[in-house]
Amino acid sequence: MEYVIIGNGVAGVSAAQVLSSKKSSESTITQFTDESIPGYYNRPKIPSFIANNDLRIEDVIAYNMDWYRRKNIDLHINEKIEKINIETNSIDSNKNSYSFDRLLIATGANCRCPPIEGQQLDHFFTMRNLSDALLIRKRLKDGNNAIIIGGGVLGLEIANAAALQGLNTTVIEFFSHLLPRQLDEEGGQLLQEILESRGMSILVDKTVQSVIGSKEVEQIQIKDGKTIPADVVLACTGIEPRISLAKDILKVRMGILVNEYLESSVNNIYAAGDCAEFQGKIYGLIPPSIQQANIAATNMMNSRSEKYQGSKISSTLKVTDLFLCSLGYNGNEHELGYEVMKYIGKEQYVKLFIQEDKIKAAIILGIRKLLPIIKKIYNNELSLSNNLSEIKAIIPNLNEA
Ligand SMILES: Cc1cc2nc3c(=O)[nH]c(=O)nc-3n(C[C@H](O)[C@H](O)[C@H](O)COP(=O)(O)OP(=O)(O)OC[C@H]3O[C@@H](n4cnc5c(N)ncnc54)[C@H](O)[C@@H]3O)c2cc1C
Repeated sequence: MEYVIIGNGVAGVSAAQVLSSKKSSESTITQFTDESIPGYYNRPKIPSFIANNDLRIEDVIAYNMDWYRRKNIDLHINEKIEKINIETNSIDSNKNSYSFDRLLIATGANCRCPPIEGQQLDHFFTMRNLSDALLIRKRLKDGNNAIIIGGGVLGLEIANAAALQGLNTTVIEFFSHLLPRQLDEEGGQLLQEILESRGMSILVDKTVQSVIGSKEVEQIQIKDGKTIPADVVLACTGIEPRISLAKDILKVRMGILVNEYLESSVNNIYAAGDCAEFQGKIYGLIPPSIQQANIAATNMMNSRSEKYQGSKISSTLKVTDLFLCSLGYNGNEHELGYEVMKYIGKEQYVKLFIQEDKIKAAIILGIRKLLPIIKKIYNNELSLSNNLSEIKAIIPNLNEA
């Protein structure tokens, strides 16, 4: 059996690992990435790489080429797959053609950038991989003013990195509060106050209209006419699944459509991770990418042997000395009629969204030690009332809102 994987992000490498540990000895695994990094690295490490000039590329590589050799995975770096031929079960790269019996598409995503004028100017960046990070880190060393467009998790982590590098850092968010997918209005405002007290400037409810400069970025203009000086502008405004290889041969919508076996619309071709759309969702997170990749790999070896049932989502913000985690929250909890329990303290905010004695979503800001118990109740769908005493032991003043 020839297993072929396009992509060496967390979905690709997780699938390769499962195949390598369970496949028969005659089967082969060939994996491709168009990146030039020799091995696998974790994207969540990128913000700290940008913040710390001493970190080298080798420091963020989790699996080097030797790891792939030991696992009998034939990883081709710097090799872009340009076409999938479904009639011949083969793929063409910029270097060669390869046949496959089972193919996994794990091509991830690109950054989605809003239509801002002036994007072609030097020192306007989007952020997806280590090559972007190297350029950004180099520029941060020379600049004084950083503008981050987008107050989501990635935007705030990069803003924190820029602030740690000593730049005046401004975050501009289109929605009325920070982290619109992880926090409600009240939590977003509290987070904004905390970040402002640490020296960051935050503008919410604002749209960047253009980036201005002759050759390099010099300032940005906001739709209300205000301009802000900028030596570096970073757009962290969401993702766009990389589906160009698939769009003419497979069923796609936002991403590559997959069923519960992670099968695409064509036999023997699977998809997982940020490029895959399951029941209308593209998760854009590591844990769902790993779950999907593991199940896809299992089904590639043993057709339809395991079902995927969707993932429970959680996001953690990694900003110096700040703890923030949101579980299952996606912005519309208030409209769903959930009961709410809430606690507000100094730089602390906890909100539980409850239905039929189960935690459906949660926001935890500033109280790290709450996470294990709330995660246990949420993940295992346990009765809240049976476990409330453990939460109240940490925050006695948690009350119904
Ligand atoms: C800076 C940053 C920080 C993040 N932090 C977190 C976090 O803290 N927690 C979390 O849950 N998620 C985080 N994410 C999101 C997370 O990294 C993604 O959900 C995850 O990487 C998706 O994995 P993937 O394998 O599907 O795609 P990717 O990681 O994007 O990997 C896809 C790979 O396929 C390659 N590829 C694409 N097309 C081709 C082609 N035609 N030929 C060859 N190779 C190709 C790409 O170059 C890439 O290497 C972060 C993302 C970024 C950018």
